[in-house]
Amino acid sequence: MLKAGILGATGAVGQRFVQLLANHPWFELTTLTASERSAGKRYADAVNWRLDSPFPDKAGELIVSPTNVDAVKDCDIVFSALPAELAGTLETAIADAGVGVFSNASSHRMDPDVPLMIAEVNPEHAALIDVQRKKRDGFIVTNPNCSTIMLATALAPLRKFSFTGIQVATMQAISGAGFEGVLAFGIYDNVIPYIGGEEEKMAREANKILGTFENGQITGAPFTVSASCNRVPVIDGHTLNVWIDIKATPEEVIEAFKTWEAPFTGLPTQPDKSVLYLPEENRPQPRLDRNRGGAMTVSVGRVREGIRFVAMGHNTIRGAAGASVLNAELFHSKKYI
Ligand code: NAP
Repeated sequence: MLKAGILGATGAVGQRFVQLLANHPWFELTTLTASERSAGKRYADAVNWRLDSPFPDKAGELIVSPTNVDAVKDCDIVFSALPAELAGTLETAIADAGVGVFSNASSHRMDPDVPLMIAEVNPEHAALIDVQRKKRDGFIVTNPNCSTIMLATALAPLRKFSFTGIQVATMQAISGAGFEGVLAFGIYDNVIPYIGGEEEKMAREANKILGTFENGQITGAPFTVSASCNRVPVIDGHTLNVWIDIKATPEEVIEAFKTWEAPFTGLPTQPDKSVLYLPEENRPQPRLDRNRGGAMTVSVGRVREGIRFVAMGHNTIRGAAGASVLNAELFHSKKYI
């Protein structure tokens, strides 16, 4: 078993990490960190557990550590669910201390030698850590932003066609803003047509994820993404309306969605279908479809002339903690850890 820690274990993404790692077959949860407000308390006393899955009692007995390098130096890997303003320098220091960092924060996503990975979509980018390891003993691997994970995963089956431009409108769940991020008074009976930084992130991150890896570097994919991001009163599950300039018919796109398979099988957090085509005219929907494949499936549907389609996935699992755990499983299976 590898010893695993979670940075920011009390937050929206951190709690998902605890849920997914509490009984993991390869990773043993040994360290949980949070702010000074929580440090020194039993996790059960520090956390305000807000998930609809049962509280993992064993993790509840761990004493929460302050978030610093010393707290995690005995871990083999750490999963980071820290606010971006903290993650930048701290994740670097932890990787320099020899620990493998799997991060959800945006700080290092665009660093040239840091993989920005969705395990099933661009596993070949894992080799970038050979470049990183020339300068440090550990490494940093990042997850894309949650809405970008839904977009890039849905685009993976379509890479065999040529496409140049993508327009996307998102309907993003409130859990994507963290537990304290959206006031009930602001979101009930409402749609907020602005999520800071999200539209720019979707454009640049999708290019890097679907870019090509050659001679130790990534060349971005040659398509443009024009995004319009909205917060809607849904608890979990980001829904995307996508328009794509693609040389394919709706039937060919549907066939690609139906037949695409991930390039590997058998990792513990991997769903049977990473992309699932739903033929019903009113699907996917967050409440009905977000938990498919252990909440790791991106559901797609409503493919029609344009080409237009809908993609939807669970933002704190497929779009954050689950994607990160799957990345770590891939690294372990490739013997990078
Ligand atoms: P969150 O709910 O606000 O949780 C923040 C966590 O960081 C808590 O554990 C908090 O501990 C800890 N923290 C806050 N200030 C700290 C400090 N000064 N020192 C040490 N720890 C501190 O945020 P979140 O939604 O889980 O997001 C975490 C990261 O994941 C962010 O970078 C976010 O952009 C990214 N992300 C989120 C999603 C999503 O769907 N939510 C998806 C993809 C990526 P206390 O409880 O002790 O304050």
